[in-house]
Amino acid sequence: MPLKLSATASKIPYYPTAGGYSLPDGVALLASNECPDPPLPEVVAAASAALAATNRYPDPSYAPLRQALSDHTGVDPSLIAVGNGSCEVLLALGEALLEPGTELVYAWPSFSVYPHLEAASGATAVRVPLDDDHRHDLDAIADAITDDTRLVIVCNPNNPTSTAVGLEPLRAFVRRVPEHVVVLIDEAYIEFAEQYRPEDSISLLQEHPHVVLLRTFSKLYGLAGLRVGYGLCSSTDLVGAVERVRQPFVVNVAAAAAATEALRHPGETGARIAQARESRGVLEAGLSALGIRAARSEANFCWFDLPADGQDPGEVEQRVIASLRDGGILVRSGGALGRPGALRVTYGTRGDNERFLAALRTALA
Ligand SMILES: *Cc1c(COP(=O)(O)O)cnc(C)c1O
Repeated sequence: MPLKLSATASKIPYYPTAGGYSLPDGVALLASNECPDPPLPEVVAAASAALAATNRYPDPSYAPLRQALSDHTGVDPSLIAVGNGSCEVLLALGEALLEPGTELVYAWPSFSVYPHLEAASGATAVRVPLDDDHRHDLDAIADAITDDTRLVIVCNPNNPTSTAVGLEPLRAFVRRVPEHVVVLIDEAYIEFAEQYRPEDSISLLQEHPHVVLLRTFSKLYGLAGLRVGYGLCSSTDLVGAVERVRQPFVVNVAAAAAATEALRHPGETGARIAQARESRGVLEAGLSALGIRAARSEANFCWFDLPADGQDPGEVEQRVIASLRDGGILVRSGGALGRPGALRVTYGTRGDNERFLAALRTALA
């Protein structure tokens, strides 16, 4: 008998995962914006030590992790919702806020998890095109908000286009958003941005009652495999909304211990940011030598249109991706992310970056 899914579940799109998790060693994984470096030995040790007590459930308040995040950000622990990856916080917030008859506004192309929100809730999504520089058009997004809007998302820097908007435009935007609409600013890559520092946007939480800053340990902190993220919220009501709809014990003890330890090494994270800046320069120059102008990246990846020379951009993209894969390099398809003919390429190690540029030159020849 064929499986009969609910009408809601059958509308939910599959997340476009990268291939490559069962590839041989030596493949350059530049498709998922992960950190190219393994976690610090101290972080691995903290996670391992936590395993000794896994007969117990986690502390459901995650007190040490939330206190460490509070020390790190200056935000009171009562205003921090931790989650099994930041996507889990995002989906919980969507579940708490959205239902049929309500609206959700976000830019497009943007993060491929957002379409899950309308599918899972039955809300109507309003997608606002990015501007010609692949950036959020904040005025157009504000104009798209109606009485029925419950949630507006700004992905800053934006995945997949790597661009960011500045803090003052963002502040002016938040001021325009009515208080019945929650403003979720997805800052998964904010540590890599040039526009403003992670500590700067915290002021938005104090100025407005309807803001959530979404952050993650998956990118800069190199803990994508452990799944820890968090939302910094303007109010305890927002934290409560997230807590209400989900199961208890979302963050496992090893992940919580690793994340807490990861915050204790600012020198190392600073070095990773410097390494990402270096990669940015190398890739921009290398792409430019191939006649490619990438979007202005403020993240740990780049985004660009492949030269199509009158051919179908989607076909060029597929050909280049296949050629790169044959060369042991995995990148992300722009077509799968809303822009056929584009590629999203994560900054790798120095060696990965050079290999990618050489393989791209071959693919385009
Ligand atoms: C990678 C990423 C995240 C992080 O997701 P986790 O669930 O924390 O791993 C969130 N938002 C965006 C835009 C991302 O690209």
